[in-house]
Amino acid sequence: MRVSDLRKPLPDGVKYAVLARQAVCWLCEEPLAGSPVFCAMTVIHDPPRALHDSCIEYSFRDPVKLKIKNKIAILTEQCKCQGCGFRLHKGKVRFDHRPPLEQRKLNRAKTDFIPKQHNPLFIDALDIECHQFRTTGRKPGALKTVTTLGSDVHIAAKLRRMLRRGKKPKRKWPKRALKSRPFRKR
Ligand SMILES: [Zn+2]
Ligand SMILES: [Zn+2]
Repeated sequence: MRVSDLRKPLPDGVKYAVLARQAVCWLCEEPLAGSPVFCAMTVIHDPPRALHDSCIEYSFRDPVKLKIKNKIAILTEQCKCQGCGFRLHKGKVRFDHRPPLEQRKLNRAKTDFIPKQHNPLFIDALDIECHQFRTTGRKPGALKTVTTLGSDVHIAAKLRRMLRRGKKPKRKWPKRALKSRPFRKR
């Protein structure tokens, strides 16, 4: 069973949940904590923003219902990268499983992982550079991979080696009974 056989594309609902947890309110800049409300300011042509329900004041219009793709786009711009803390931008976001799927146990039916691969609490939104660093050990801006130590690639390789080693038959404990020291006879 290979991890790549079980890896599925991330549904929009999961992306939305990850971003809604990671994004900050457009007004107060505190975390939205998973429950954003979308509305625009009364200024003409201003696009909708994600806000806390409690942060909507008179200068905002009524909350709007949006398609999930639009919500994802808005939330992305209000998110900070979980790796470097800089703002994320639409089209330059990568969703990273934490811990990586390679390091997770399989469920009993061997159909998914523990925790489940689509559990948004175990996924980080990253920019391209930080994602690259996490998965390959390549530093942002570096041309060559300097070291894979500590990256997913390194850890996955180590786990595979351990797995292979684990499959070898274990040496049995010798059946020979331990000799006890003879008692001194009087
Ligand atoms: Zn707020
Ligand atoms: Zn980053």
